[in-house]
Amino acid sequence: MFNLKTLKSVLVVSLLTAGSLSVAAAGTAQAATKQTLVPLSPAEAKTLVFMREEEKLARDVYLTSDSEWGMTVFSNIAASEQAHMDSIARLLTRYHLKDPITDSAVGVFTNNELRVTYYELITRGDLSVMEALRVGGFIEELDIKDLSLAIAQSRHPDVIRVYENLMSGSRNHLRAFLKALRQRGGTYTAQVLTQSEVDAILASTR
Ligand code: ZN
Ligand code: ZN
Repeated sequence: MFNLKTLKSVLVVSLLTAGSLSVAAAGTAQAATKQTLVPLSPAEAKTLVFMREEEKLARDVYLTSDSEWGMTVFSNIAASEQAHMDSIARLLTRYHLKDPITDSAVGVFTNNELRVTYYELITRGDLSVMEALRVGGFIEELDIKDLSLAIAQSRHPDVIRVYENLMSGSRNHLRAFLKALRQRGGTYTAQVLTQSEVDAILASTR
């Protein structure tokens, strides 16, 4: 005998079951993601925290150079450094690490070495627009060197991917600063990397 009420309750039960199955499946997927998230080693964590502020050093020096010299190369690259800072912040959150940046204001650093470097670099950049562009070159070379070391040290593909993106950005930034310098008749000598490494970056498009 056909009973509509029974059919309805069967349907409701099967919908509920399907619902709870997908909730269970989502739970399993979440557990799997958690399981695969291997914590960073103390050295990897220390590097990630340092890189977060090194990107801020770049942003802060370029913002200062922009207010001093009013050149779009500084404001454009400062915006890109903000994006670099943000991508490291996402990794800090993912790996439950404390963000060293508690105050985003220009020139404020938790790492004292970076704070001292910031003041040295803005003092240099204050001398002339040419010197401000060379300071840009210095920061990008430093960033490329530190990112290569960080990549060599990391065992986490998601972290390596972020570092590689940042390094590709740094190579673009180095080319942009040196192009602006050349357009003003300025010369450039490698400051952190070897001259042949800098020449290879300039000759490349990536
Ligand atoms: Zn950067
Ligand atoms: Zn950069």
